[in-house]
Amino acid sequence: MVEHVTEPGWAEVERYLTDVVVRPDAAHQRALASAVEAGMPPIEVAPNAGKLLRMLVQLSGAKRVLEIGTLAGFSSIWMAQGLPDDGTLVTCEFLQQHADVARANVDAAGVGHKVEIRIGAALDTLPMLAGHEPFDFVFIDADKQNDANYLEWAIRLGRAGTVIVMDNVIWDGAILEPERDRLNAPGIVQALEMLGNDPRLDATAIQTVGSKGWDGFAVARVR
Ligand code: SAM
Repeated sequence: MVEHVTEPGWAEVERYLTDVVVRPDAAHQRALASAVEAGMPPIEVAPNAGKLLRMLVQLSGAKRVLEIGTLAGFSSIWMAQGLPDDGTLVTCEFLQQHADVARANVDAAGVGHKVEIRIGAALDTLPMLAGHEPFDFVFIDADKQNDANYLEWAIRLGRAGTVIVMDNVIWDGAILEPERDRLNAPGIVQALEMLGNDPRLDATAIQTVGSKGWDGFAVARVR
């Protein structure tokens, strides 16, 4: 497993940007605190990334969002806030305990009416979402071994123009040395290669530093 190392300066700059520019609200703070109280690992997106997700949902005009990997609902709150009042966010979570905490958090944030949580392994719950209106926006942030499978589902459940964001695509640089984390890195590399090669996708990938160490995200558009 790789260690996600954060330089003190990266975290300080992120705190400054969060306070001055991002300005999380009480619901975001509550979700973060509840995750700590529940003993969850601190693997939610950073606040600046959460706000970027909200802005991308708004800028793309999405009405239906799919999230894979809920945790305490931190990113769910940001994205649901970017949806119109009659919009829908379906979020897939493996663990009942995480789903329970997330449900309380999205309800307390006043966006619970837009959020549906599907509990179970996403590869089991995603097929149940077929045959409905397509998703306009998909955020992939669960078990990295399945990133390429989740991209496939995002395409299947989306439409031409669907925006896909995939988190954690740099993994402390282990994408160039997958032997450093045989559990996660090969799945990320497979997904990156799919993002570059699959004729159904047009994509870019951005590396970042901050409170979550050296990492990054990919943004794709279904052709
Ligand atoms: N998106 C969240 C946020 O930023 O607030 C963080 C999600 S966290 C990185 C990953 C979550 O995916 C965990 O809650 C974990 O239990 C869940 N997960 C792991 N494997 C999964 C699977 N096969 N199906 C569904 N969820 C899974």
